[in-house]
Amino acid sequence: MSPIPPLPPHDWPSFEPGWVWLCGAGPGDPGLLTLHALNALRQADVVVYDALVGEAILDWAPQARHVYAGKRGGKPSAQQRDISLMLVDLARAGRRVLRLKGGDPFVFGRGGEEAQTLVQFGVPIRIVPGISAGIGGLAYAGIPVTHRDVNQSVTFVTGHDQTGTAPAALDWSAIARGSQVIVIYMGMKHLGQIADALIAAGRPEDEPVAIVCSATTAQQAVLETTLHRAARDVAEAGIEPPSIICVGRAVLMRQALDWQAMLEGQAPRNLDPLDRGRPAESA
Ligand code: SAH
Repeated sequence: MSPIPPLPPHDWPSFEPGWVWLCGAGPGDPGLLTLHALNALRQADVVVYDALVGEAILDWAPQARHVYAGKRGGKPSAQQRDISLMLVDLARAGRRVLRLKGGDPFVFGRGGEEAQTLVQFGVPIRIVPGISAGIGGLAYAGIPVTHRDVNQSVTFVTGHDQTGTAPAALDWSAIARGSQVIVIYMGMKHLGQIADALIAAGRPEDEPVAIVCSATTAQQAVLETTLHRAARDVAEAGIEPPSIICVGRAVLMRQALDWQAMLEGQAPRNLDPLDRGRPAESA
């Protein structure tokens, strides 16, 4: 077990018994934890963690009991309620409860619901944001989620809702028309359907798409494809969740910025993937 690194001097909050800290663990690489998360791990009595939290991170809270509260997408909300009520019970029993969730707790992570239940039961909370897969996961693949020559906006969507179907509440045609870069969480199951909807609404069939699987972990795999081919290529490559999907020309930047390939000694594939023909930082 790795020793817990000391925290630099700062006015770190003290984790009081009876509190729940709802904390993002980032997309997987323990190095992407925040210092507030580390401070929480050091003090917690119980860590209640999700499926997407890297187990290595739990080693940083050796004094705590580790409780797995993983769910798989689209399962009934009763289970979610059980988790929230367990947090209430643990807090009321005087524990320092660290609720650790993958990525950022308030990004498609039901953190808002858990926090609301805790507040409704009078349990004091602290929220610790984390690096979300849709930003940090893409960065590990060498994809800037915004890039001046590509997009002035980015749309984060979930490809899956509580019913387990492609979210009916989403107007994919409006998203297709109004979004420059689209980042899709939980989109693997309905990727074909989503891609068809985007193409039907006018997105080019050959628009670049990247699928980043198990981003920031040792198992990270990246597939570069196009809207039209995405679902077929995913099936052929056998890529699995958790995967983050990025639709848009920002994906092209990976040809220059695949820093993990460069770490392994590969040269960048293309120094000017957007064909600007001028230095990157000129106006
Ligand atoms: N709160 C999390 C998202 C939870 S929803 C966050 O902010 O990142 C679960 C979805 O997040 C997965 O289906 C996948 O689309 C994405 N995801 C989370 N961790 C990931 C990882 N390491 N690699 C790729 N996608 C990931």
